[in-house]
Amino acid sequence: MYLMKKLTLDDVKTILNAPKRVVIIPHTNPDGDAMGSSLGLAHYLSAKNHDVQVITPNDYPKFLKWIPGTSDVLIFDKQHDKSTKAIHKADLIFTLDFNALHRSGPLQSTLEQNKALKIMIDHHQQPEDYAHYRYSDVNMSSTSEMVYHFIDQLGDLHHMNSTIGTALYTGIMTDTASFRFPLTTSNTHKIVAHLKDLGINHTEIHNQVYDANRFERTKLLGIALNNLTVLEDFKTAYITLSQEELDRCNHQKGDTEGFVNYGLSVQDVIFAAIFIEKKDEGIIKISLRSKGNFDVNQLAREHFSGGGHKNAAGGKSSLSLDDTVAKFKTLIQSYKSELQL
Ligand code: 5GP
Ligand code: MN
Repeated sequence: MYLMKKLTLDDVKTILNAPKRVVIIPHTNPDGDAMGSSLGLAHYLSAKNHDVQVITPNDYPKFLKWIPGTSDVLIFDKQHDKSTKAIHKADLIFTLDFNALHRSGPLQSTLEQNKALKIMIDHHQQPEDYAHYRYSDVNMSSTSEMVYHFIDQLGDLHHMNSTIGTALYTGIMTDTASFRFPLTTSNTHKIVAHLKDLGINHTEIHNQVYDANRFERTKLLGIALNNLTVLEDFKTAYITLSQEELDRCNHQKGDTEGFVNYGLSVQDVIFAAIFIEKKDEGIIKISLRSKGNFDVNQLAREHFSGGGHKNAAGGKSSLSLDDTVAKFKTLIQSYKSELQL
């Protein structure tokens, strides 16, 4: 990585005092936190008179497409020319909710070559050092919570409103699994209390994200639960979904989001995995979740070309579905002592 002058928070404040062309980029396959933090930040920066464009590397699930500002989002791999133009014109690029440039997928080389000032806001482990200003905190519940702190650090909480709040709440709610994960702090709740006072409708946000399933998606959950296997000796549960099973339920982006958590809902299970066959990409997409000290980030990095957080990580395998499961079952033998605690 080339040498660059780092910015201080005061520098960032000064830069943002005059109107800038800003591009905001979340990670590939954006989730609730990626979209919530990006759109929340976009609304805030627009209120400060910046010219703001959110660009996602690829498409994102329908259950996030109601968040205010969605209709202005560009999808890089579908709107290539418009997106490239916006990135080339940008003075400032925010990268949100990812720790390494490769997590921007099809945007990676564009971002590597681009000379605009870059600001990273992210809560994933082992962040790369590509940004001029890096706000990284692995103890944060979500990047959306960090956007709130960022606005606060800039002395701009008076700009906070229910539109920004609705986007940020979506990210905080989804990344904490509805305030369940350990990184949910009293501060998280204080922020949410503030957003609530500003008029966000938490019931409606929850309905839009969790209770707007296509019937076929719920049927797919049935297949996933039917495929759930528990390895009692290892306090481990896993789910498989083959391409044929996905096709049978007319699978759409985002349908399998959250399925992996059902493994963790089984008594005594502390480690859960889901293996999803993606025939078009020639890979098995893997999601890993754990409770307590079992570190799935490390496991995903070492064995499945992935990463994430201690209790939630992802990765992939280029073996077949059956062989991936076989590898997994062999692998956990070597983690037996950690899993039996
Ligand atoms: P999910 O299982 O929901 O796709 O991802 C769980 C967490 O792991 C998220 O924070 C996500 O950003 C991260 N993650 C998922 N897949 C990958 C991957 O292939 N590489 C890395 N570094 N992180 C991933
Ligand atoms: Mn996140």
